[in-house]
Amino acid sequence: MPKDRRELAKYKSKRDFRKTPEPPGTLRRLSTEPTFVVQHHRARADHYDFRLEVDGVLKSWAVPRGLSFDPKDRRLGVMTEDHPLEYAAFEGVIPKGEYGAGTVMVWDVGYYWNRTTDRHGRPVPIQDAIQSGHLKVWLQGNKLVGGWALTKFKEEKGKTQWIVLKHADDNAGSPPPEDRSVLTGRTLEEIRKAADAVWSSGRRVS
Ligand code: MN
Repeated sequence: MPKDRRELAKYKSKRDFRKTPEPPGTLRRLSTEPTFVVQHHRARADHYDFRLEVDGVLKSWAVPRGLSFDPKDRRLGVMTEDHPLEYAAFEGVIPKGEYGAGTVMVWDVGYYWNRTTDRHGRPVPIQDAIQSGHLKVWLQGNKLVGGWALTKFKEEKGKTQWIVLKHADDNAGSPPPEDRSVLTGRTLEEIRKAADAVWSSGRRVS
């Protein structure tokens, strides 16, 4: 095991991340590959936010039912505004009255490879792929592993709608992963209760 990971294991062994707001450090970069994250966001509408690191920001889609392992599942994804890279580590409660008020869980995190090609089989840069409305990515996460494709099919009121589809590869058909944080093991309910406890104790942390 590399030295830095050993040290992180020690850091983790001393802490209960269901109780401390400290970062578990799972997001430490071990690779130069770009990050992806899926956040379960229980807001006015329950949805999953799928985000891909592109040029130092997170390109983002709200996917109401989340990503599926079943190649026959056509999941809707609505593109939302770019988020800062640091958002990939955000888990907690967005207070009432704030934008996106509700609970956020880091459902999965990892890195991805752009696998988009043009009709001649030549690689297409991720920026061009998003711009043209079709991309293929290989996700290397803790839960999500395999190929997924996103295809833009509609634009309405300035928002673009995409279909998110699993590739029929070796990882297709895997059972749906647990709905717990990949950083802390918590459910949405546990994340919400932990935030309530902090706020009601008066030592609200920003
Ligand atoms: Mn959201």
